[in-house]
Amino acid sequence: MSLYLKYRPADFKNLVWQTFVKETLQKAIENNKTVWAYLFCWPRWTGKTSSARIFAKAINCENPINGNPCLECSICLDFAQEKLIDIIEIDAASNTWVDNIREIIEKAQFSPTKTKYKIYIIDEVHMLSKWAFNALLKILEEPPSHVKFILATTETHKVPETIISRCQRYDFKRISNTDIKNRLEYIAWAENIRFDDKAIEYVVKNSWWWLRNAISLFEQLITNDEINYEHIVKKLEIVDENIIESFLNKLLEKDQTAIEIFEKNIEDWKNIKLFFKELLFYTKAKSLNELRLNNDITKYIDILDILDDTYSKTKNSLDENTTFLIGILKILNWYNNKIIHTQNNIQTINTWNTSNTRQAEPTKNKVEKHENNVKDTISHDDVFDIFWDEPSTDSQTNNQVDSNTSNTNSTRFDTNTFKIKLKENWAKWWLVLAIPAAEIELYWDTLSIWTKTKIHRWQFENVDNQNIICKALTEMWIQNPKIKLN
Ligand SMILES: [Zn+2]
Repeated sequence: MSLYLKYRPADFKNLVWQTFVKETLQKAIENNKTVWAYLFCWPRWTGKTSSARIFAKAINCENPINGNPCLECSICLDFAQEKLIDIIEIDAASNTWVDNIREIIEKAQFSPTKTKYKIYIIDEVHMLSKWAFNALLKILEEPPSHVKFILATTETHKVPETIISRCQRYDFKRISNTDIKNRLEYIAWAENIRFDDKAIEYVVKNSWWWLRNAISLFEQLITNDEINYEHIVKKLEIVDENIIESFLNKLLEKDQTAIEIFEKNIEDWKNIKLFFKELLFYTKAKSLNELRLNNDITKYIDILDILDDTYSKTKNSLDENTTFLIGILKILNWYNNKIIHTQNNIQTINTWNTSNTRQAEPTKNKVEKHENNVKDTISHDDVFDIFWDEPSTDSQTNNQVDSNTSNTNSTRFDTNTFKIKLKENWAKWWLVLAIPAAEIELYWDTLSIWTKTKIHRWQFENVDNQNIICKALTEMWIQNPKIKLN
C-alpha cells in the first residue's frame, strides 16, 4: 500500500491542517449541534474529501471522543470497509452520476438503515444539473430530520445562491508548507525513516501545496529507510543548492563564468530542467527575502521573468540545453539591453533604413578584436546582429590582408557574408551564434577557428555543421575548404 493511502487521515487527529474548520466541526458534534447542510468551499488540492468523510463518520459514530470518530464502533468499522450504505458519496463531476443523481437525492426521504443520519457527500456540487439542483433544493427547504448534506465545491460562485443560503459554509485554506512538512515528519517518524531537514524541504518545495504530491515524492526518494538531501541530489541528478546560490550570484554580477558552471552541469549529466526549476525557486525565495528587507528587487524580477519565459519555451524546444543557455545569455546580456534600450530602438531603425548606403566600418585590427573577445565573449552587438539578420555592410573589407599581423598568409575573413551563407544553407542558428563568439581566420583554403567555450566548440565539431560550413565556404569561392579547430 502506498504511503499516501496508508496515511490518509481517518480521524480529525490525523487531519493536521484546516485547524479552524476542524475544531468548529468537532465542537458541533460534541455539543450535538450539527445542522442539516454544510457547504465546504475549498481550493483544489487540499486533500478535501478526507475532511467530509471524517465529519460524516464522526456524526454517526456511536462513541465519539471530543467530536472525533472512535474508529472502533461498528459504524466506524463498517465505514472503513466501505460497507456503510447510509453515507453516500457522489462526485457530481463524474458522468456516471448524471442520470440518476436526481433519483438518489429524492431517496433521501427514506430513513437510514443502520446509522442515525443518512449523509450525502456531494463533491463538486456546482456541476449538478438544473434538475438535480431542484431536487436538492426541495429537500433543503424541508429537510427530513434523518438527513444531512455535506456539499463541497472548488467553484463556489457556480453554486446557486438558493443552495448556499441554506448551508453552513466553511472556507478551507490551502494546506500550508509547514503543515505538509509536519505531516511528512510524522510519517517518517511512524515508518522509522531517517531524514534530514533539507530533504524534507526539497520535497515540500516541489509538491505545490499538494499533500498527495508531497507524500508520493517523499516515498519515491526513500532509500534504505532513509531520505537525505545528498541522496536526492544523486538520485534526481539535481544540482546542489550551494552551486545554485553561486550561480545566481554570478548572474546578478553578470559574471560570464556562469556559463562554465552551466557547461559543467551538462558535462556531469545533471538534469538541466531541474537545475532551472531549482534556480527559479531559489531566485524567487531570495527576491521575497530582499523585498522583506526593503531592498530593490528589480534585478531579481528581471531574472525571474527571463527564467520563467525560458522554462516555458523548453516545451516546444528541439534542444532544451540550448534554450536554457539562451536564457542565461539573455540574463548576462540584460544590463546592456536595459541601458541602451532606448538608444538602440532609434539606431535599429536607422540601420535598417540606411544599411545599403551606410559607410563600411573601418577594419578593426586583430589585436584589438582579440582583446574585445577576452573582455566580452559574446557582446550585445554580436547577439543583436544575429537576431536582426543585419545585411553585410563591410564587403569592402573582404579579403583585405591584415596589416597588423606578421602572418601574410592570413586573410581577414568576412564573417558577415559567412553568416549569410550559413543561413542560406539552413545552418542551425546556434551555429551562427557561435561565429561572433569565436576567433576565425582564413589561411588560404583553411578556416582556422579558436573557441573560448565548449558549447561553441561543439558547434564546430559537429559533422553536420562542418558540412554546412564547407558548403558556405565553397559558395564564397574557396575551393576544397578545410576546417582547423585550435
Ligand atoms: Zn465510532
